[in-house]
Amino acid sequence: MEHQFDAVIIGSGLAGLRAAIEIGENASVAVLSKVFATRSHSGAAQGGIGAALANEEEDSWEWHMFDTVKGSDYLGDQDAIETMAKDAPRTIFELEHLGVPFNRTSEGKIAQRAFGGHTSGFGKAPVKRACFAADRTGRVILDTLWEQCLQRNTKFFDEFQVLSLMVEDRRCYGVVAYELATGELHTFYSKVVLLATGGAGKIFKTTSNAFASTGDGMALAYRAGAPLEDMEFVQFHPTGIYKLGILISEAARGEGGILLNKDGERFMERYAPVIKDLAPRDMVSRCIMEEVRAGRGIDGQDYVHLDLTHLGEDVINSKLAEITGFARTYAGVDANKEPIPVQPTCHYMMGGIASDVDGRVVVDSSDTPFEGLFAAGECACVSVHGANRLGCNSLLDTLVFGRRSGMEISRYVQRNDFQKPATDFEKAAAAEISGLMTAKGEERIGDIMADMQEVMMDNVSVFRTESPMKEALGKIMELKGRYQHISLQDKGSCFNRDLLDALELGHMLDLAEVIAMGALFRQESRGAHFREDFPERNDDDFLVHTLVRHTDKGPQIFNKPVTITRFQPQERKY
Ligand SMILES: Cc1cc2nc3c(=O)[nH]c(=O)nc-3n(C[C@H](O)[C@H](O)[C@H](O)COP(=O)(O)OP(=O)(O)OC[C@H]3O[C@@H](n4cnc5c(N)ncnc54)[C@H](O)[C@@H]3O)c2cc1C
Repeated sequence: MEHQFDAVIIGSGLAGLRAAIEIGENASVAVLSKVFATRSHSGAAQGGIGAALANEEEDSWEWHMFDTVKGSDYLGDQDAIETMAKDAPRTIFELEHLGVPFNRTSEGKIAQRAFGGHTSGFGKAPVKRACFAADRTGRVILDTLWEQCLQRNTKFFDEFQVLSLMVEDRRCYGVVAYELATGELHTFYSKVVLLATGGAGKIFKTTSNAFASTGDGMALAYRAGAPLEDMEFVQFHPTGIYKLGILISEAARGEGGILLNKDGERFMERYAPVIKDLAPRDMVSRCIMEEVRAGRGIDGQDYVHLDLTHLGEDVINSKLAEITGFARTYAGVDANKEPIPVQPTCHYMMGGIASDVDGRVVVDSSDTPFEGLFAAGECACVSVHGANRLGCNSLLDTLVFGRRSGMEISRYVQRNDFQKPATDFEKAAAAEISGLMTAKGEERIGDIMADMQEVMMDNVSVFRTESPMKEALGKIMELKGRYQHISLQDKGSCFNRDLLDALELGHMLDLAEVIAMGALFRQESRGAHFREDFPERNDDDFLVHTLVRHTDKGPQIFNKPVTITRFQPQERKY
């Protein structure tokens, strides 16, 4: 079936919906999502969204900018970070006006709480900067934006999985999508495609991410010729529930929770004497692993304790109800009375599709735009998070750059006419699907997926060294070979998960290769990328973005300078 819209947005998380609202009724917009719109991973965000409102204590956007630059280990582009930090208070007031029910102070202002790496006075002390709605911040923002889209008659295509971008000569003409309920293919012609497809945590064995976070948009853009930027920077959140990876938000530490080792010692005091448990995530994750390596994990195992028992039932029930519910359900722990067992969990991709502050996907180091292709949210790399994202800066990123993408798309669709590609992309997608349906190989999708997740977790996660990473890259190439010999059990056309898993696995294998290559290339330690064989940051050689482009001869790495405006790189101490 064929459709035509001025703009097609892939993804109904915060980035996609905020862009859709901005385009509004200026142009025809379709939002496609492989899950029901409000099931997007944004709805799982717990802790909050950062903005220097100064409602609880003195704060300024310059301090927010500084913290983000320092948190990024000086790899974030400072012009983009400035744009985000300055626009943050406006973003929050806009959400408030749209109807987001934020928690309030006793004076009736929007309440704020502390979060890792957010400080006052350029690093002097933790500051309360995170605006929140209990521990369901993403949920309430997502639902509010969705309602706003319904009011504006945005056309939703829920449970439509995009299979390919229609690209010829670096110009995008739309997408081909698969309708999950029927197996029917749909071609969407458009002047603009915005990728807002979220993260790719499912590449790793332990993750806080949803099942849908398989990096489709990044892989589709990469295959279509757009470079991926800084993919080696993968964030491990320090507090996933032991063995499961389900997130216990940093809000737990923002409200006063502390991390303890087997001796009951608050070990973060040793590693970050000023901000302790509120150090940034890359540091806290490494510290937990150091404690475990030194034999100070609980019962000698690979986890530590997150203790909230001193916070009192009032704080727990009013501000941390959701996550303490998770602890009860999934770990059998009553957080009022006993500590929660936690370990680092794969949480966020700092890297993504190289794009500029107006959402335009760029193809080279001089920022030449990819015609008709935009990206925003976690799948994009603008880059505001550099080598390590601070908590609460992702929801902000999705909204600030989702809106800016929407504004630029509104201008773009006015300026440009519809064009159709010469190639029949739907036919190519149909051939790919029928190839998978009729394949008779011996390999099982689940086995390849488990092997990929295992090797990425063991060899390319918090601590990295050359030879295990080379081994991982070799394994990924072997898995790519095995992937050529898969077969599907389900040959049906109604909610064929088997088929979709196969397609998603193909995407994740491409991204795993890019992550491992970038991590091998970067012979230094910066932010979330810690090389045991190169433990120091090396600004002389590596204060650059890593870009990887897909070519016929395989992935090709090149670099782009980091934009430094106000803050010169310094040693990163907390
Ligand atoms: C458990 C958890 C808690 C978090 N808490 C916070 C927090 O408190 N504060 C904060 O700032 N950040 C937080 N984050 C990070 C933040 O929530 C995410 O980075 C952000 O919400 C991503 O939004 P997005 O719009 O880019 O994508 P998502 O919300 O992930 O949405 C992706 C969309 O793309 C669609 N999609 C993907 N592939 C396809 C395809 N092939 N075809 C069609 N549709 C497709 C999906 O269906 C979905 O609609 C948290 C993340 C997690 C996992």
